[in-house]
Amino acid sequence: MVQRITTRISDRKQLTKDSFVFTLDIPSLDFQAGQFLTFILKDEEGKPKPRSYSLFNAPSRLPIQLLVECIPGGLAGEQFRRSTPQTEFSVMGPLGKFIFQKEKRKHIFIATNTGIAPIHSMIAEHLDKGFEMTLIFGARLKEGLYFHEEFSALDKGDETFVYKPTLSREEKEGIAKGYVQKLIDFDKEAQYYICGSDAMVKDTVSVLQGKDIPKEHIHYEVF
Ligand SMILES: Cc1cc2nc3c(=O)[nH]c(=O)nc-3n(C[C@H](O)[C@H](O)[C@H](O)COP(=O)(O)OP(=O)(O)OC[C@H]3O[C@@H](n4cnc5c(N)ncnc54)[C@H](O)[C@@H]3O)c2cc1C
Repeated sequence: MVQRITTRISDRKQLTKDSFVFTLDIPSLDFQAGQFLTFILKDEEGKPKPRSYSLFNAPSRLPIQLLVECIPGGLAGEQFRRSTPQTEFSVMGPLGKFIFQKEKRKHIFIATNTGIAPIHSMIAEHLDKGFEMTLIFGARLKEGLYFHEEFSALDKGDETFVYKPTLSREEKEGIAKGYVQKLIDFDKEAQYYICGSDAMVKDTVSVLQGKDIPKEHIHYEVF
């Protein structure tokens, strides 16, 4: 059920200059991996400005966390950066239908940048439960491949979890060069989950449709 919650950022871990994992002071929340919270922020004139953030943690594992790129000059980005442990935020959620299809066996995740947040929640919740998972994760630079070491360690060389990182603007040993679409295996039995910018999602959906992947197997969230 959608709740209205007043919360605070109780902890923050900085990953890059602009990216953070924020821990929220929410004692419990009934949600499905892939869902998001909407923050009811206000602009300078006091007008409500909603901003949504995917839940990053697995539903079965507290605390409640978000992975946020605080865009310099962005309304939410600046409010999050300036917040103290006392700053109160009004939040609604959980919301969204970008969720894991538990009844299916094979799952292919395609994410760029913070688009990894809802997918991280799905993987953390459902790994090692008899599913076959592939993660294709793209960023411009290596620092944008959040949790690269953790995802690499999960890939034990079998179909339980296959990790395929790629960088579009940097060469790094052991990491592919180029866009995520180049690394997709096309399998009509698989479920595809895509999360990232509008352009990335549109391109990926069009590539999948061009390979006759059934429409109902393609799930996406645009950030
Ligand atoms: C369902 C959903 C889930 C989301 N989950 C996450 C999440 O888990 N983590 C996360 O960091 N973001 C997430 N977003 C994006 C987030 O809601 C905001 O749009 C983003 O944080 C920018 O907000 P802002 O108020 O700081 O910037 P704004 O004040 O809205 O914009 C400032 C500038 O940044 C540009 N901009 C806006 N959004 C983006 C973007 N996503 N990437 C790059 N430039 C942008 C604008 O064009 C503008 O120039 C999600 C969005 C949706 C719809």
